[in-house]
Amino acid sequence: MKKPIILIAEDEDSNYTVLKMLLEKKLSAEIFRARNGLEAVEITRTNERINLVLMDIKMPVMDGFEATGIIKTERKELPVIAITAYGLSGDEHKALSAGCDDYVSKPIQTNALFEKIKNILNIT
Ligand SMILES: [Mg+2]
Repeated sequence: MKKPIILIAEDEDSNYTVLKMLLEKKLSAEIFRARNGLEAVEITRTNERINLVLMDIKMPVMDGFEATGIIKTERKELPVIAITAYGLSGDEHKALSAGCDDYVSKPIQTNALFEKIKNILNIT
C-alpha cells in the first residue's frame, strides 16, 4: 500500500488536530501542516514526497483558491482536496475551477473523506 504523505493546510488548530489524528490512525498517513495558503505553496515546493493536499479554503495571508492555483501550476499531478465552509455552496464550484480535484464541506464527514482519499491515491 502506498503510504499517504499528506499536507493539511488548515489555519484552525482544533480542525487540524482532529484531521491529523484521524488520518494517522485510519490511513497510517504521514502529515505535514501549513497554516495558510502561502505556507502550503512553499511546503509543496520543498517537499516532493507529499502526495496529497487537503486545502482549507478560508485561510489568512493567501486563501485556498489562490494557493491551489499556484500549486497546480507547479505540480499539476499533485491532488488537492478542498475543504469548503459549511453553507457556502458557491465555494465547491470555485474550488473545482481553481483546480481542486475534489472537495469536502465542513463539518467533514470522515468516511466520505477517506473514500475520496483512497480513490485519488488508488489505495484499496
Ligand atoms: Mg480556515
